[in-house]
Amino acid sequence: MPDTPSTALLFTVPPAPSVAVVGEARRYPVNRIFCVGRNYADHAKEMGVEVDREAPFYFLKQAGAIVDSGATIAYPPGTENYHYEMEFVVAIGAPARAVPVETALDAVLGYACGLDMTRRDLQLQARAKQRPWDLGKNFEQSAIITDIVPKAAFGVVGPQRIILAVDGVTKQDAHLSDLVWSVEELVSHLSRYYHLAPGDLIYTGTPAGVGPVVAGDVVTGSIDGLPPISLTIAPAEAV
Ligand code: MN
Repeated sequence: MPDTPSTALLFTVPPAPSVAVVGEARRYPVNRIFCVGRNYADHAKEMGVEVDREAPFYFLKQAGAIVDSGATIAYPPGTENYHYEMEFVVAIGAPARAVPVETALDAVLGYACGLDMTRRDLQLQARAKQRPWDLGKNFEQSAIITDIVPKAAFGVVGPQRIILAVDGVTKQDAHLSDLVWSVEELVSHLSRYYHLAPGDLIYTGTPAGVGPVVAGDVVTGSIDGLPPISLTIAPAEAV
């Protein structure tokens, strides 16, 4: 009998995606990344579309797309219009299935700053052809996130300012009270379609002012009460 190589030698297991939690030794294991579309009226307008007042809509990113704030990442392949989107992120901390709006916050562990990095040209091409957005939205290193701040330490969601700058020039400036669908409404609505559980993140959408970044740009963002977020764009990798 010839020796059969052990399959264990043929691959390595990547580390499980996770996020730090302020005041907590354990990291938060990321399972699903839900992203809300068109959740600020001014951003929907700049994209040439209307907010759907009937119900929120979502797309997902793979858990492995998570990148810690402070990273330097290469300009991604396949795009000539790579955009930032500054977002308020909700981390689910308890199981939730078909929960009412009134108790939906019970399922929330805390909040973080996030960047929903987007290949805008590919997203818009897909949108025009009524195809899924995966090429535009769900790609490697496309979900940047800060440490998670526990819900109690953050307080009531609403008055906090959400800001993004590129190389120090402010591009997005809004308040969380501008969210069309609130955290409670999003958790309640998603819980009618999924068994929400710890590991589920919700990127709640971006305000107006989205735009492109190029190699060498430094993106910084902040939301009152959360650690600031930053991202540096490096040249595209050679192929
Ligand atoms: Mn987004």
